[in-house]
Amino acid sequence: MYNRDIMMPPGEWLKPPRSLLLILFLVTLVSVSALAWFGWKVLYQERMIDAQRAQERLEQAAGGVAATVKGVLLETGEKVGTWLLSPPADGKPEEGLLLLVGPNELSARPVNRLLYRPLPPPDEDILRGAFSDGEALEFQGGESDQAVEWYRRRLAASKDEAMRAGALVRLARALRKAGRLQEARAAYTQLATVSGASVAGVPAELVARHALCELSGDREEATALQNDLARARWQLDRGQFAFYWSEAARLAGNQKAVPDDLAALAEAAAQAWDELASDQNLTGQNTLWVDGQPFFLIWRGGAGHRAALLTRPEAMLRPILASGGVSWAAADAEDRVVVGRKTAGHAVVRTTAETHLPWTLYFTAAQGTTDAGTVARQRFLVLVTVLTVLFLIAGAYFIGRAVRRDLEVSRMQSDFVAAVSHEFRSPLTSIRQLSELLAEGRVPGQDRRQMYYDTLVRETTRLQRLVEALLNFGRMEAGVRKYRFEELDAASLVERVVAEFAPQMESSGRHIELEASPALCPIDADPEALSVALRNLVDNALKYSPGRPTVWVQWAAENAHVAIRVRDRGVGIPQSERRAIFRKFFRGTAAAAANVKGSGVGLAMVRHIVAAHGGEISVVSEPGEGSTFTILLPAGEEK
Ligand code: ADP
Repeated sequence: MYNRDIMMPPGEWLKPPRSLLLILFLVTLVSVSALAWFGWKVLYQERMIDAQRAQERLEQAAGGVAATVKGVLLETGEKVGTWLLSPPADGKPEEGLLLLVGPNELSARPVNRLLYRPLPPPDEDILRGAFSDGEALEFQGGESDQAVEWYRRRLAASKDEAMRAGALVRLARALRKAGRLQEARAAYTQLATVSGASVAGVPAELVARHALCELSGDREEATALQNDLARARWQLDRGQFAFYWSEAARLAGNQKAVPDDLAALAEAAAQAWDELASDQNLTGQNTLWVDGQPFFLIWRGGAGHRAALLTRPEAMLRPILASGGVSWAAADAEDRVVVGRKTAGHAVVRTTAETHLPWTLYFTAAQGTTDAGTVARQRFLVLVTVLTVLFLIAGAYFIGRAVRRDLEVSRMQSDFVAAVSHEFRSPLTSIRQLSELLAEGRVPGQDRRQMYYDTLVRETTRLQRLVEALLNFGRMEAGVRKYRFEELDAASLVERVVAEFAPQMESSGRHIELEASPALCPIDADPEALSVALRNLVDNALKYSPGRPTVWVQWAAENAHVAIRVRDRGVGIPQSERRAIFRKFFRGTAAAAANVKGSGVGLAMVRHIVAAHGGEISVVSEPGEGSTFTILLPAGEEK
């Protein structure tokens, strides 16, 4: 039946009623496409609006950040201005290095953060020629001991720190030359205590400690010297620092490099001083670069003095960097990133011309900032669209199926009308012919007439049965068939129904074999209805096993049920039809192949009747081997 549809030429689909299915399919296709398109469009618009909102939010955030950065710079500038008047307490400023520049002054705070700085040339004038006699003894005469004595006298006579330092360093040198190392060490130790004095521009203490390390060869002492250098204990220029650092490293036996951050800061400070020297503006700011690292210099000035803060931009702007919602970066005129991280595809840019800041600002929306409401709305939209599409498809599928079934039923109905008409026609024809013959008195002999009467009775009975069966089925379908249940034994019912077939069996030479149950099989049933059901099954078994003499009827009690089985060795039923045969008007391929007459309502009626008894009908069959139909009924009470 389905195969017939598939193999149908395409033109057939365009004719009613199949065109209904085609129209349904097209309408569904168009509506689903329209809905999907509409859903996609709305979603797209939602996305656009969302993107626009995100852009607006970003613009707003950008404005906010730019204003805050500006505020921080202003505030920092003001702070530097106050430091110009009153320098900060020890250890301040924390965020960087304060450089103070005066006519004859270059200083930095906190002092211990700057490894080296430009220094004024050493003022050696006071010492010029002060030790020339001693040096003459030391260098020209080679009289170290006499030179020692000379320097000692000089030392004793000196009150001035610089003079004492000058004398001590020379005395220690002469003692070393004379091989009097113990005394030389004592002289250096003494030199180390002459605070504030310098020897050839180098702090006396540093000179002494370096010499002492050399004399003792003590690595720990050298390491301590190294640490003091790293703590910027002395004010040195770059050359002095480099020399003493390398000496300390050599004497300590390590190759420790200058700590990176301090080296960079010292280098930046050197640049800052150059910058301040070349730029005479009273206020200003600039970004300096040391080894690819940015430093920010901001200065304020007045009355021949200037104060400048040298700091890492990151230290200054850290709190703003973390401000939520956006990620941003600042880059200088050469597009080097000063602070933050420049991510690809930045959405908003604020130039220096717009912000009057020293940097261009780049803003991108931080990851995952699409607001949860929008995401939920979009998800909801997708869900609604998908559900509607599914609903539409499912609806169309079920409508399609129903239409198809209806088409099938109407086809089967017309088959049914044809089949029933045929069933009626043959008995009616013989009744008409026989009654005509009898009426016209053309039948000679009493025996013959009797035979005709018998035939008339048989044919009218057949017709009556047929009409009753159809009426019965109609009543069942309409649900108005009344059942009258009573307690009875399955054996008596089966035997009675089978007995009805006796004349037919006799004339055809076939027989129905009974396989009786040894036990009683009580059932609660409407005997008339159940007889109709059983008669149908036996009739089918005989109809669909042409050429086979026997069909079997068996009944037995099985777990609170009574089973009545009708078995044949006939044509069998293909797997694909085993459910369909219980539908009304359905006629199987076996029926068509064997040219068996029928209406297709028999099994549908059996199913109705068995269901009304609270039982079940089932079939086991193998094409070519035969079929067994089983009526399973709830067992009644034994009396
Ligand atoms: P019909 O009037 O066609 O016999 P039924 O409802 O009794 O109508 O049966 C429906 C179909 O089931 C039949 O057309 C036939 O194809 C199949 N069928 C019923 N009983 C048998 C059987 N014993 N052996 C093979 N096919 C059967």
